[in-house]
Amino acid sequence: MSNVVVCLFSASGYDRAAQGVAGAGRRLADSLGAKMHIVAIGPSNPDFNSQAAAVADSVIVADQAELSEYQPEICLEALKQLCRPLEPRAVILSNDTWSQELAPRLAHRLGGSAAGDCLDLTVVDGSIRIKRSVYGGKAVATIELKRSPAVAWVRSRAFDPAALAASTGEIKHASAEIKPDDRTRIVERKSETSGEARLEDAKLIISGGRGLGGPEPFKDLQEVAAMLGGQVGASRAACDSGWCPPSWQIGQTGKKVAPGLYLAVAIQGASQHIAGMSDSKVVAAVNIDPDAPIFKHCKFGIVEDYKKVIPLLKEKLAAMK
Ligand SMILES: Cc1cc2nc3c(=O)[nH]c(=O)nc-3n(C[C@H](O)[C@H](O)[C@H](O)COP(=O)(O)OP(=O)(O)OC[C@H]3O[C@@H](n4cnc5c(N)ncnc54)[C@H](O)[C@@H]3O)c2cc1C
Repeated sequence: MSNVVVCLFSASGYDRAAQGVAGAGRRLADSLGAKMHIVAIGPSNPDFNSQAAAVADSVIVADQAELSEYQPEICLEALKQLCRPLEPRAVILSNDTWSQELAPRLAHRLGGSAAGDCLDLTVVDGSIRIKRSVYGGKAVATIELKRSPAVAWVRSRAFDPAALAASTGEIKHASAEIKPDDRTRIVERKSETSGEARLEDAKLIISGGRGLGGPEPFKDLQEVAAMLGGQVGASRAACDSGWCPPSWQIGQTGKKVAPGLYLAVAIQGASQHIAGMSDSKVVAAVNIDPDAPIFKHCKFGIVEDYKKVIPLLKEKLAAMK
């Protein structure tokens, strides 16, 4: 029987993103008549292990000291060593920045084929096909991954979680042989967003664009976001202008988010931006230009200067509190 391997980082917990990736792996394995194994990299987390075991045929916990924090060369080597004996038909990862860094290299080391940003995974006549958006979200391409294993990193929230107790997998501990040469020496650590939740997990995002005109208005957006329990994102133009950290960038070359509410303030709605937030449940926008493309993606739109709208929003929210 063939195998599908899902690679997850246990430090993030068995969160919605992990559930989506595991769901994608479980359904692909069922379609292939294969077994699904979760390789969990990082410090062992009993809650994570038991929840993962409820959807997988086995959970392989790789919690050796060298994997306690993310280092690409070491994680890559460990994933290669842990995946290879399973001779997987497919390896599924998330679309977080770590997985995106590892997946194409893992595909090469396993001699397989790779595709990223997958929205759908299917099996047609025994072949694995993925769907992904292209041209900044204007079209969807279907790609057949011919060489085995098919290594795919998926938009985790595009996939439903697997039903818990879809399986009762065995939890095994495994370790990889890490040579000193595989290590990267960490010279310095800088944390940009310490204390903040990941944008990818935010339930509400207020994003600012170049139309804000500078860094100051981002402080107002942060205040509004804090009042609503949300987080702040940005367009690439705003990040490139140095008005906010690059880690806030949402879009084709930034983060892919899927909050319940996405409020775009002074963002025109370029296809490359839409590519990062089109999975949001409800999109609203504030833009001075009634013809701004963002309005085509909105449920609610306010055609107005943000300088009028944001203070009013702050005032109303403060009154509601
Ligand atoms: C390969 C590639 C990858 C890219 N990746 C990304 C990406 O990941 N994410 C991303 O965002 N972009 C990306 N871009 C850039 C993208 O094409 C756009 O240039 C960018 O998104 C524009 O940002 P913006 O909407 O903030 O700025 P602008 O295009 O300058 O739009 C500003 C908007 O603000 C409005 N406005 C101005 N003043 C006010 C006001 N006072 N009140 C209200 N509204 C106002 C304007 O009407 C306008 O609609 C990429 C481009 C390329 C080529």
